[in-house]
Amino acid sequence: MSSAIPKTQTAVQIEAYGGVEVLQLKKDAPVPEIKPTELLIKNEYAGINFIDIYFRNGLYSVPAFPYTLGREAEGRVAAIGDSVTGYKVGDRVAYIGASAQAEYTALEPLHVAQVPAGVEGGVAAASLLQGLTALTMVRESYPVQKGDFILVHAAAGGVGLWLCQFVRAIGAYAIATASTDKKLQLAKENGAEFTINYSTEDWVSRVLEITGKKGVAAVFDGVGASTFEGDLEVLARKGSLVSFGNASGPVPPFAIARLAAKNLKVLRPQLFGYIVTREEFESYAGEILELIAAGKVNVKIHEVYPLADVARAQTDIESRGTTGKLILKI
Ligand code: NDP
Repeated sequence: MSSAIPKTQTAVQIEAYGGVEVLQLKKDAPVPEIKPTELLIKNEYAGINFIDIYFRNGLYSVPAFPYTLGREAEGRVAAIGDSVTGYKVGDRVAYIGASAQAEYTALEPLHVAQVPAGVEGGVAAASLLQGLTALTMVRESYPVQKGDFILVHAAAGGVGLWLCQFVRAIGAYAIATASTDKKLQLAKENGAEFTINYSTEDWVSRVLEITGKKGVAAVFDGVGASTFEGDLEVLARKGSLVSFGNASGPVPPFAIARLAAKNLKVLRPQLFGYIVTREEFESYAGEILELIAAGKVNVKIHEVYPLADVARAQTDIESRGTTGKLILKI
């Protein structure tokens, strides 16, 4: 490791599950020692994702305490393990990996992408995890077809805005839900064809009305508990419910025989299952970064928070006060 790399660093850590009060900005966390198979990245921006909330509150377990939060970042390669090829110190990269809300992160290069010229600082960290989630789902969870009606919940959120854009690009019609009219306006600007305020309207009736009672070919649902029952009602025969998150709480167990009425499919994908190989990651991440560099997608950044304001960022996303992506400047 180069001598310019310090022994300690600032990192966002938890030592117990709980509310935002368990978040600690540790000033003396150890800088990880890289293994021969790893890169050390000096992070410049890290993404905030709803999964940070699940790890903080214990819905998802962390491997051990203290645990450094964060699942994606962009920065520069600071050191390279002996058996790693294809990178040099100083390369600008973005990645998906654990412990990203820190000054330095060590990880294997499987999910590390080179950032092409033309992608502004912060934008790669704002795009990789949510963009890849949306892209893999419209390609693989339910391959969206031209002309489909697709219901996208929380459409003005991080993943939601990507979904609206991809559905539109395919030539399908996104029906967007969100909790405020301002959020719905943003979803419309990002490609949604129809909008429904699910806080004030009977969204099930509205979806059936929009689709002439046929229902939608697929629902992309990151909201979870509060929308699941309605999703089963608004799906067309042979429709797919892609349940990919739990913003309102996890979907409770249900009797699979209920799917028989319309020959429905229910999937519960996670991004990592679609980027297991280097080829899969390179292909999808390359596509996302090229779309950004070419100005073909809109990356809406809600706010760039200083690392020290991580608790405020988590409070904002959890309280439904945000649109698009939240990132931390490190
Ligand atoms: P968002 O920016 O979409 O924020 C969550 C949104 O969920 C809120 O803005 C809010 O929108 C909506 N929501 C509905 N009910 C609630 C509630 N009770 N509490 C809080 N929010 C609520 O977050 P992300 O884009 O980071 O993530 C979206 C979903 O995708 C999450 O469930 C996340 O876990 C999941 N995800 C899953 C992945 C996977 O691999 N399976 C990968 C990445 C994300 P509104 O106010 O309009 O209702």
